[in-house]
Amino acid sequence: MSVVRVEHVNKYYLLGEQKVQALKDISLSIEPGVFLAIAGPSGSGKTTLLNLIGCIDTPSSGKIFINDHDVSGKTPDELADLRASKIGFIFQTFNLLPVLTAAENVEYPLLQRKALSKAERRERIAYFLDMVGLSKFADHRPNQLSGGQRQRVAIARALVIKPSIVLADEPTANLDLATGKDILQLMKQINRRLNTTFIFSTHDRHVMAMADRLIRVEDGSITMLGTRIENQWSMVRERRSVPRHDAP
Ligand code: ADP
Ligand code: MG
Repeated sequence: MSVVRVEHVNKYYLLGEQKVQALKDISLSIEPGVFLAIAGPSGSGKTTLLNLIGCIDTPSSGKIFINDHDVSGKTPDELADLRASKIGFIFQTFNLLPVLTAAENVEYPLLQRKALSKAERRERIAYFLDMVGLSKFADHRPNQLSGGQRQRVAIARALVIKPSIVLADEPTANLDLATGKDILQLMKQINRRLNTTFIFSTHDRHVMAMADRLIRVEDGSITMLGTRIENQWSMVRERRSVPRHDAP
């Protein structure tokens, strides 16, 4: 079983009259429980790919499967339900609601879960705030927290729905190197503890080095797949990106 399967996906954007191809025939399969980095320079298609996996956007062609269910052809409401129950999001700019406390920000995705009692919500919020080391900061608003603490709140908010996948788009890009490493360490600890699949994008070498699996994208195509066993990376170059050795 794969938690995410992408089959021959193309994505075009219209920019005025111009058609921009952000993803070119992407196929990949992600096993449950991995800690996976999508690495590539700015403009290579990382955010587009994460948005498609997260069902925030739909492919121009090709198919996406989440937990072996084909999500193409689902209505916007069905996709919203799928996101609310299966997918946690972490963003580069944290995206916390400034008027809410840390605990209220974590509670936010649970408010539409009518089946959860207030007591059950409270218990979950406390559990995940503790997991990210912020129990003492439950009543703080985002502007009373450091960048690293804000991202910890965002991690707790992503986890509170008990998702099967957490998607993080450049989660360390607004943090200094040491704080970014701490955040990645925390994500990895949680990945090991809960077996939640984490897929994060980055263009930072220190961040990609912490992954178990690496997908390198360049100019909308996958150019390299990496797997780390212990401290050894094995890299496979995707066939299409190998330079041709045609006779001159
Ligand atoms: P990355 O996250 O790796 O920086 P993106 O996925 O944001 O890359 O972008 C991939 C390509 O698609 C870029 O050329 C970008 O300019 C283009 N692009 C992204 N979003 C849009 C959009 N909404 N409209 C038009 N072009 C877009
Ligand atoms: Mg991006």
